[in-house]
Amino acid sequence: MSKKRVLILGSTGSIGISALEILAEKPDCFEIVGLSAHSNESLLLEQAQKYKVTKLALSQGNTNHPAIPYKGREGILRLIEESEADIVLNGIVGSAGFVPSLTALRMGKHLALANKETLVMAGELVLKEVKKHGVNLLPVDSEHSAIFQLYTRFAKDSLEGVILTASGGAFRDLPKEKLSKVTPADALKHPTWSMGKKITIDSASLANKGLEVIEAHHLFELPPEKIHVVIHPQSYVHSLIQTKDGNLYAQIGVPDMRIPILNALSYPDILPQSLPKLSLSNLSLHFFEPDREKYPMLGLAYKALQKGGAYPLVYNAANEVAVEAFLQGALPFTGIPILVEKTLQWKDWPIHLSSVEEVLATDAYARAISRSILSERKL
Ligand code: MG
Repeated sequence: MSKKRVLILGSTGSIGISALEILAEKPDCFEIVGLSAHSNESLLLEQAQKYKVTKLALSQGNTNHPAIPYKGREGILRLIEESEADIVLNGIVGSAGFVPSLTALRMGKHLALANKETLVMAGELVLKEVKKHGVNLLPVDSEHSAIFQLYTRFAKDSLEGVILTASGGAFRDLPKEKLSKVTPADALKHPTWSMGKKITIDSASLANKGLEVIEAHHLFELPPEKIHVVIHPQSYVHSLIQTKDGNLYAQIGVPDMRIPILNALSYPDILPQSLPKLSLSNLSLHFFEPDREKYPMLGLAYKALQKGGAYPLVYNAANEVAVEAFLQGALPFTGIPILVEKTLQWKDWPIHLSSVEEVLATDAYARAISRSILSERKL
């Protein structure tokens, strides 16, 4: 594999830290040409020194540190433009990742995408840019990475659909009557994957899987009815595809984000890595249907996807507001889907979003509506 220049956005988050670890093992394959972080200045500087990176950006905070030349959200976009990266790994959390993704694509860079919101907010717009610039959009999300690896090995017309696996999150074994009393600390105990706060809460509510259904719709150009979700507590089966003859093909391995990160960055090559391999001895795998009543966020995602246009974006925006409120103790866990549903039903949202400005304005509006529903205690 020829050496790739990699720019990491969100380097101090869970994805960024894993990426730096795995890339540092392969100095012949990768050169890290830039790092961006949101607010963790000290860790960013530490990473810069450790991995010998000079192009640094910090999106929040009024840093005057001379080693950080790119500041604010604009600074991140300038970093993308000036980084000379071949591929950008976007590990930014939440909707803040959308514009950086678009900027990378418009600069003709391949995009390794860990930021789900990019596709959830504006999938059509983003895919248009991918095609226009002839670049690769490489999923980092473990489920989509698995499907991507399998998908590209079959003729498109031989495929029946895809099955996303879900661990079931922190409350998988909790009866649904008890969900109204759970605390943020309870929700942050994820059984198998180690991830950031927002995504761990989303795993507990299955909103994360809802976002992934929307993501899969765009990545694999599948209608919602061909995208299925199954609970798989062990997280060894990262996802499956089904061909028209009924056969299932699965990617099975240890649940470690470093593998899908490396696969995206090394695409189309598969590189060796030093992580422990999964042993099949004494391995038990279980699968069961998600309880739609216990996890209303999953059904709401399908509904939003069926409606299309701005609905997936509104689903995401309202969920971000709801999770923030839950983490602050201002909303019970069971209030999350109620707030999201109320926001989705607030008005007839546009069924077509044609520009970045329209996407951002609708996103801001949806958040404002969510916050007003929340503050007026209409839940
Ligand atoms: Mg995932």
